[in-house]
Amino acid sequence: MALVLSHAVIVTVDARDRVLCDHDLRIDGTTISAIGPGGSLARPGDRVIDCANGLVMPGFVNTHTHATLGLFRGLADDKTRAFWPEGGYRVSGQERFGEADYRRSLADACAEFLLNGVTCIADRVAAMDAYAPIIEASGLRASVGSTLVDLAGPADWGPTERLIERYGTDPARSRIVAGIAPHALDTCSDALLRECGERARRAGARVYLHVAQCQAEIDAIRRRGHGGALSCLRCAGLTGPDVVAAHAIYLDRDEEEGWCRDGTAICHCPASNLKIEARTLPLNRYADEVPVGLGTDWTASNNAMDMFWEMRLAGLVGKMQADDPTVLPTARMLRLATLDGARVLGIDHLVGSVEVGKRADLVVLDLNQPEMRPLHDPISNIVHSASPRSVRDVLVDGEIRVRGGKLPVPPEAWTS
Ligand SMILES: [Zn+2]
Repeated sequence: MALVLSHAVIVTVDARDRVLCDHDLRIDGTTISAIGPGGSLARPGDRVIDCANGLVMPGFVNTHTHATLGLFRGLADDKTRAFWPEGGYRVSGQERFGEADYRRSLADACAEFLLNGVTCIADRVAAMDAYAPIIEASGLRASVGSTLVDLAGPADWGPTERLIERYGTDPARSRIVAGIAPHALDTCSDALLRECGERARRAGARVYLHVAQCQAEIDAIRRRGHGGALSCLRCAGLTGPDVVAAHAIYLDRDEEEGWCRDGTAICHCPASNLKIEARTLPLNRYADEVPVGLGTDWTASNNAMDMFWEMRLAGLVGKMQADDPTVLPTARMLRLATLDGARVLGIDHLVGSVEVGKRADLVVLDLNQPEMRPLHDPISNIVHSASPRSVRDVLVDGEIRVRGGKLPVPPEAWTS
């Protein structure tokens, strides 16, 4: 039995940014098998979801999250840069939370992502092997990494090895894949960073790390003899599109140029960076040079897990930074939040656009919501007007994970 989304407006995010009015989309198993004129694709026995008042778009790809730490929301607003201790991002009072709290936080965050139209995340935390099964149970697609540090002692590779063993690194074979996740340039030694690159190449994994997030990090790596973040990455062999750097907001002009030559991927987290550093990436400088995706980061520094808001903020602040209201146009921003994010995670051949042969990771927006009317330009409405309340249905790998703005399964079920 196939699933058919009928009579929808489809925003494809394909190579021509096509928008199709009154079209059907047919899903066989996990995959989009056909797109055709409205009313043309349903056969007897198919399940049909009426989308006459629906807009189908690719699900958001959130390239940088810490879902386990969702329970820190509201604990760190309006702080000085010095509030964040060197070599880590702890929130005062976090000691009171235990294992059960983190498991519940992760399930709640996964629910929030799905309800907000996110179909894929790249998530990291220490001991991720104990938490990843909750992400798996939620139905989200994910790249997961267990944080590695060696400031106080040798890095513990056990959780990373168990993640690779359980999920592998091939996104075509597994909805959850393992990455290698050194924490940051100042919390990992040069030797550990080098080992991460070597192990990633052997395992066919991507490397995920925080880079150039604050001045203290740059000061620390300069004390180790590096000129800056770029030279530290190059010294460790961590450059190129298989390396995924969150933030990258403390790079000088020369480093910007070098970064673009290396082609290292960036997770741009505008809300998080603006909130805790009052600083942002010059998005327009990088967006067409290297793979760039958007990330919400964690609740202490954002605090919303809302990719609509992140996309709009990135576009508007990017215009301000470039001093040009014509840059980062709406279709470009939607691509950044979907297909480009998939490219950052190495899964753009599978998801990120609505095209035949791709996995059905889809969001249906409710065109009855006031913010979606009138619909002169569907892409403009998505980027500049829509919000999580516009999300009606969400599918991942062809499975319905949100229907009518609600989760069919409560998040408590994912932790048991
Ligand atoms: Zn982070």
